Amino acid sequence: MSERKVALITGATRGIGKEIALELAQNGFDIAVNYRSMQEGMEDLKKEIEEYGVRCEFVGADVANFEQCESMVKETVEKFGKIDILVNNAGITKDGLIMRMKKEDFEAVIDINLIGTFNVTRNVIPYMIKQKSGRIINVSSVVGVAGNAGQTNYSASKAGIIGFTKSLAKEVASRNILVNAIAPGFIDTDMTKVLSDNVKEGINVQIPLRRMGSPKEVAKVVKFLASEDSSYITGQVINIDGGMVM
Ligand code: NAP
Repeated sequence: MSERKVALITGATRGIGKEIALELAQNGFDIAVNYRSMQEGMEDLKKEIEEYGVRCEFVGADVANFEQCESMVKETVEKFGKIDILVNNAGITKDGLIMRMKKEDFEAVIDINLIGTFNVTRNVIPYMIKQKSGRIINVSSVVGVAGNAGQTNYSASKAGIIGFTKSLAKEVASRNILVNAIAPGFIDTDMTKVLSDNVKEGINVQIPLRRMGSPKEVAKVVKFLASEDSSYITGQVINIDGGMVM
C-alpha cells in the first residue's frame, strides 16, 4: 500500500482536472488520472507528475457508465492499495435555450455530470468507510448556484451535485469522510474556449475581478480541501469565481 495519500481525479487529462492532478502531485499525493479517451500528451503528463517524486497511473472509465466506474475504482485500489481523495471533476456542457434543447442533450449532461459523480462516489465510498477516512471534492459551478440562461441542463446537473454533496457530507461525517463542493466561475479551459470574444467580454463585466480564472486558481482550492488544513470543513460549497456570485 502506498505510504503517500492517493488521489483519484476524474477527467484529469486536460483542463481543470489536469491542473488538480499536477497540484496534488506537487504536494506529495500519488495520482490516479481517470480518462475517457486516450489523449495526446498523456505520457508527458505522467512524466510531469512523476517528476514530483510521486506515482501516477492512468485509469480509464466513462463516468456515465456504472460498471466501468466499478472496474476503475477496483483497478485504482489494486494499483495503490487505497483511495484517500476523490475529485469528481469530469463534466461536459451541451448548451441551448429550453425551446430548442433536445431531450438527449439534457440527459447527456445529467448522465455525465451528476450521475457520473454518483457512479464514482458510490464505488469509492465503501473503501473510505472501511479505512475510516477520506475526502471527496465535487466540481460544481457558479451556474449550479445562480443559474444561467441557455444552460438548464448544466445548471440542473451542477445544482444536483450541491445537494448530493450536502447529503453525503451528513451521511458519512461520522466515518471521518469530508465531502465538499467547489463552484468555479469562468475558467480558461477548452470548455470556455468555444465562447466568442463578445460573450467573454460580457462575462468579464459581471466579474468584480474583471477576468476569467485559471485552472491553477481552482486547483489550489482543491489542494486545500484535500489537506489537513481543511479538517473542520464539510458540506460546503466554495465559490472560485472572482466575486461573480456573492
Ligand atoms: P474540459 O477542459 O472540457 O475537460 C473536461 C474533462 O472531463 C476532460 O478530461 C474530459 O475527457 C472529461 N470527461 C468528459 N466526459 C467524461 C466522461 N463521461 N467520463 C470521463 N471523463 C469525462 O473542462 P474543464 O473546464 O476542465 O471542466 C472540468 C470541470 O469543471 C467540469 O465538471 C466543469 O463542468 C467544471 N467547471 C468548469 C468551468 C469552466 O469555466 N471551465 C466552470 C465551472 C465548472 P475527454 O477528453 O475524454 O472528453
